[in-house]
Order: sequence, then C-alpha cells, then structure tokens
Amino acid sequence: MKKMGLGQLEARGRQVLMRVDFNVPLDPDGNITDDTRLRAALPTIRHLLDVGASVVLMSHLGRPKGQVVPSMSLKPVAERLAGLLEGPVLFATDTVGDDAKRLAAALEPGQVLMLENLRFDAAETRNDPQFAAELATLGDCYVNDAFGAAHRAHASTVGVGAGFNIRCAGFLMEKELENLGRLMFEPARPFVAVLGGAKIQGKVEVIDQLLDRVDTLLLGGGMIFNFFRVQGFNVGDSLVDEASLDIVRAILDKVTGARAELILPIDVKIGDSFSNEAATRDVEVTAIPDHWQGLDIGPRTIARFEDVIRSARSIFWNGPLGVFEMPTFALGTEAVARAVAEATDGGALSVIGGGDSVAAINKTGLAHRISHISTGGGASLEFMAGRALPGVLALTDA
Ligand code: AMP
Repeated sequence: MKKMGLGQLEARGRQVLMRVDFNVPLDPDGNITDDTRLRAALPTIRHLLDVGASVVLMSHLGRPKGQVVPSMSLKPVAERLAGLLEGPVLFATDTVGDDAKRLAAALEPGQVLMLENLRFDAAETRNDPQFAAELATLGDCYVNDAFGAAHRAHASTVGVGAGFNIRCAGFLMEKELENLGRLMFEPARPFVAVLGGAKIQGKVEVIDQLLDRVDTLLLGGGMIFNFFRVQGFNVGDSLVDEASLDIVRAILDKVTGARAELILPIDVKIGDSFSNEAATRDVEVTAIPDHWQGLDIGPRTIARFEDVIRSARSIFWNGPLGVFEMPTFALGTEAVARAVAEATDGGALSVIGGGDSVAAINKTGLAHRISHISTGGGASLEFMAGRALPGVLALTDA
C-alpha cells in the first residue's frame, strides 16, 4: 500500500515532528565513526526547511534501556548534523520534559531542534500512550524517515501517530520502501539473494520466505555450518547454533520442493584459530578437520557465486560471507561485493542491507555502483521476510 509522502504535506509555517534513525556507530571515545544515517535524512530535513517549516527531530541511539546514559547522548549527533546542514541545530536535554517543551514552543520556521535520546525513557520502547501523546504535542504534523526503526512498534514510530491526522513518509523512507518493494513484489528475473553473517537466528524466516520468491539463494558466513552439521559433515570448531538445527533441517526439507535453488558453499577457507594470523587452508566442506574453523567461503565457491550474481537482474544481499573484518578472511565478501557492482553496472537492481554488508561495500569503495544501500539492516530483513513493518503500517495511506 502506497503511503502519503512529503509531496502531499502542506508543511509551510507548520512544525514537523520527525522521527529519524540517527542510531550511528560510535568509537570507544564517543566519536561518530560513520554518519551515513545523518546524511540519508538530509534531503527530508532540507526540504522541510526550504518550504518554511520548523523541524523537531527525535531518534534513539544504542540501547540505554530506559536509563540516562551520558555516553549515548544525541548531543554530539546534533552537532554533527549542524555541520552537515551548515546551520544551527538546537538541542533539548530531554524528550518530553521542560527543556524540550520550551524549545519546541519557541521554534521558528527554518529552525531545527533535536531531542535527547528517546530510549533514555523506557516509555519509548514500551510504546506508552501517555509518552507518545506528550511527544505529539511537540509538532503539528508528523513525518517518519526512520526506516531503520520501522520494524519496532515504539512510541515515536507508532503510538505518536494517534496525535496526528496525517502521518507522512519522508524521502528516505519512501526510497527504502520503493527499492525493497520492487524486489519483493516485481523483481526482474533472475532474482538472486545472498545471505551471510554469523547468526542464523532471525534469518531463518527470511531464508524460508526468500525460497518462495527468488530464483537462487546463495548462503555464506558463519551460519552455513549449521547446514553442514545437519548434513552430517564434520565442522571442526566452526560456528554452530545447536538450538537452530531443527529449523535448518526444515529448511533443507523445504528446498526439495521449492522453486528456488539453494546454493551452499562447496569449499571453505579454514583457519587454525580465530585470527587474521591463523594458518589457513582451502578445503571441501566435507573435509574440515578437527580443531579448525571455517572463516570464509573457498575459491571454488567464490567462482560459482560470482557467476550466479553476474547473471542476476535483481539482487538482495545481507551479511558478510566470511569474517571480513580480518583481511585473511575477507576474500569471499569482497568478491561478492565486486560481482554485485558488476551486475548493477549491467542493469541489475541491487539492494544491500545490514550494517556489516554496508561496511564491507564501503570498504571496497564500490558503494556508488550499488542501486540502493539500505539504512535498516533489521528492517530490510523483516521486510524481505514478508512481515509488515509497524512503523510503515502506522503511516497514512496515499
Ligand atoms: P551477523 O551479526 O549475523 O550479521 O554477522 C556478522 C558477523 O558475522 C561479522 O562480524 C562476521 O565477522 C561474522 N562472520 C561471517 N562469517 C563467519 C564465520 N565463518 N565464522 C564466524 N563469524 C563469521
């Protein structure tokens, strides 16, 4: 269902309460290491300021669990945003307290106010109606541009909507839904999905759904060893999540009748320890010795995956194929990144989601050759798992 966008919002002279996803990565000293999420929200903020609205921004940062945690303050984020906007950003030291209310009441058209971390109050994640109603008093219309938080039914993404007649998607939210929607509902074929990462938890439903939608599903990363374990191979010290083995068995059963082809690695790069300096070998997946662990896909698998990806017309990729943080085990992820970029050059629609795959694509310098890099790892996976996102459902239908 198409949602109302900024084109349908008469924002001139009004105060827009806007949910953004400024949950940026910080280094141990509290410096922002990647401001992609701030940059991604700039078009919406600039548009609203240009048409003569005032903007109250609200976001979460990290998981302070309802406590005020100074290292998770949004103040440095507001300062970085001011730099990107080349203009002042006012900052409220609370969310629905006196400071926020006072600053919001005095805000003039063309001014931006950023609230403190929503999750300093447990009422946010509880979707508490009272907290949501108080947030709603800070603006007279509502825009949600926080795709990365859309899979959560929280006060700022869902509850707050009760206070507004019209709840609009921002430009970023629209772009995310458009690209993921094209993959989900009208993909050009062949449609290839690549899933990696360490955790199988949370990906099982995505795998299950994708098997009904894609032509080929390529699996890599730490999660594959669950499959090899179920198939009866020795996996040495590789990652195995015992609790997921039954579901993995069910997936393998489903594949037999599925339209999609599931391709598991045929060889892996193993290390004798979890270290960049480990001794390594490339072995068949059936020949992993004791005390070794699989940390990347092997060269024959890389060649196979490259072939499949290069001939795709639609691509969804989430999760690294190996421990890409260590150069020794980054070859599979880098090869996949290159193949996705090449397919995109040839006209394929490519969507990459998830912090790690985005970091990987940034590291290879190929980001500009990808159709769409999603700002929401979890949200994009839930979307591809066929689940309705509460933050999207809460927006007004166009
Ligand atoms: P996830 O949080 O599930 O998306 O997993 C991302 C992490 O998976 C990254 O930090 C990778 O280093 C890690 N990873 C990928 N492949 C493997 C592997 N074969 N063994 C252990 N960790 C892996």
